[in-house]
Amino acid sequence: MVDSHYQSIIDYLGPNGFLENKLKNFTYREEQLQLSEEVYKAFFNNEFLAAEVGTGVGKTYAYLISAIFWSIETGQKVIISTKTKALQQQINDRDLPLLKKVMAESFVYAEAKGRENYICWNKYMRILSGKKSLNIEEEKFITSILKWAEKTKTGDRKELSLTSNEMSRWYLVSADRKSCLKEKCFYHEKCFRLKMIKHLEKADLIIVNHALLLSDAIVDNSILPEYKHLIIDEAHTFDRESFDKLSVTLSITETLDILNSLISSKNSGYLFYLKNQFPAFSSQITHLIISIERQLEYTEALFNCFNQAFNYEKTYSYNHVLNNNDYDSEWFTELIDVYLEWQHNLNSIINELININEQTNLSDGDNDLTYMLNALIEIGDNAFIILEENLNKEDTIHWLNFNNGNVCELCSSIINVGNKIKEYVFKDLDSLIMLSATLTVNGDFNYFLKKNGLLEYTDCQRINLFLKESPFNYDKQAKMLLVEDIPDPSSPIFESEVVLALEETIKSLKGNILVLFTSRKQLYEVTLQLRKKLKNDNVTLLVQHEDGEFKTLIDKFTNTRSVLMGLDTYWEGLDLKGDILKCLIIVKLPFRSPSEPYSSSWEKYYIKEQKNSFLNYMLPDAAIKFKQGIGRLIRSENDDGIVVVLDTRLITKNYGKVIKDNSPIKSIEKISKQQIQDVINHWFK
Ligand code: SF4
Repeated sequence: MVDSHYQSIIDYLGPNGFLENKLKNFTYREEQLQLSEEVYKAFFNNEFLAAEVGTGVGKTYAYLISAIFWSIETGQKVIISTKTKALQQQINDRDLPLLKKVMAESFVYAEAKGRENYICWNKYMRILSGKKSLNIEEEKFITSILKWAEKTKTGDRKELSLTSNEMSRWYLVSADRKSCLKEKCFYHEKCFRLKMIKHLEKADLIIVNHALLLSDAIVDNSILPEYKHLIIDEAHTFDRESFDKLSVTLSITETLDILNSLISSKNSGYLFYLKNQFPAFSSQITHLIISIERQLEYTEALFNCFNQAFNYEKTYSYNHVLNNNDYDSEWFTELIDVYLEWQHNLNSIINELININEQTNLSDGDNDLTYMLNALIEIGDNAFIILEENLNKEDTIHWLNFNNGNVCELCSSIINVGNKIKEYVFKDLDSLIMLSATLTVNGDFNYFLKKNGLLEYTDCQRINLFLKESPFNYDKQAKMLLVEDIPDPSSPIFESEVVLALEETIKSLKGNILVLFTSRKQLYEVTLQLRKKLKNDNVTLLVQHEDGEFKTLIDKFTNTRSVLMGLDTYWEGLDLKGDILKCLIIVKLPFRSPSEPYSSSWEKYYIKEQKNSFLNYMLPDAAIKFKQGIGRLIRSENDDGIVVVLDTRLITKNYGKVIKDNSPIKSIEKISKQQIQDVINHWFK
């Protein structure tokens, strides 16, 4: 590298460098310095970089230092996107302030946040001037934020220290896309969200989360200033989040709520208010009310077509991906007939509302009418995309979400999101850096590159690949036990065998155990049996969905000897150092359910490509998730622990080797349930 800042990076991150001398917990790591150089090289050469770096390398400082120097040198902005708001806050509230303090170079950073974080002046002032009626609880909430609202300089809800119950009424005053009056807003100059956006223009580094980055790129480009350099941390989930963001939904509840708010049954709906305010429009509004009543019936009829076709039990709350049989069936033809009437009537309602709005000039200061109009337009647009535009396209899928046996949402998305990510986010970038501890399958980046639409960049050699294993000594710090006398997960006695294995582990450790599940039903069944067995033991069982929210469970797990059992969210993002977590139990290999829309989308894609979807999608996806789960165990050089795997397919199936080999733990032992206690006791003696 020829650039002068290369030396600066060494000065900061190198052995005996500034950071090692100035920051208490900072240790020089060769891998970190190499990563930082690679990141800088990508900026310098207008290249893309995909980097997998194991836990403990210190990737955050590696890319922050490079981004700071690049931005200082060129005056160009670098956007840093993280998956979770927690990491976004950690970078914004801890890492960057620390670097700013110890670095001689001056730089500006800012956090980009979604509009729902900010108070909307127009909504707030309408409430204060009595233009919106509130119930007692809502009034209490407004009273509790009065002082803050008068003196806040940011308008950011994070400054409020109210309970989550009190904050549940934040929606009354929060900025939102559908109700924003934009340049027509009387408080435009004072708008906190717009101030935040202006502030971003002055920043060298902008910290954002994936959801906001994607919304901005896909929906309206209204938040982030123009940028050419993007760092995506926790990049292993970026395609999945893109799939969700690119999905379009028609929700029965949202549709009925909006319609009802216009004509609520006690004659107190918005249109009755309008009728009183503008008697001259009385007959027009009466006609509109009749159309809305009809629209309510059409909406019920539309969703009833699905409910009659799929007569699921009242407890069913999953999804169903529509297939060719569904599209060819009689009920689907009827559904389309109902939909066409529904859409036609909705369009006339929207036109009528626009008419009234134009004649009364109401929406000039009225968020409510703006919100309702925008919401109805969006509902109509979404239904059009789902039931007309996307319907016969080969590269889309449709699915239904159920709640208690009834269809609550109709959704559609595209298959192979990679092409769309490229189009919306990557296409115009000069440099892109994607990092995570889990991008590859046994060192191969192809699965990740394919999912994210980056494979073609390898052909023109625009993308560099960087792979560094964790500096931790896994051979000494961890061991994996494969319990081989448990039947296959499809066996009816699998859950009771899992309970026996858990009991053995608990007898030995009495707590500090994390058990990872892949199915809610299985978690429920195992919990039921285990609670009975542990009744007289002095061990606390903490179960997701039963014993509290994520943060509560983690706090309890950290402070008591307990066994924590959870699903998806516990497979990643947990950072429990030291003795808090001694043993990690993986109940089943983390294959996604093939009926999940995201899995179905890839299955459809590979069928179309005449390729094996299991080998190309299901297996690499599970191997990466397995590695993510394993990654919870060893979080520092001083940690040690045991992983116990209760799914014998890891031993008996050929594909088990792919998953096993992708794990950083190479010390593996096959044991029986009876041996669990001895082996664990021996490990920790
Ligand atoms: S511009 Fe939009 S968000 Fe800002 S105060 Fe006005 S209505 Fe609210």
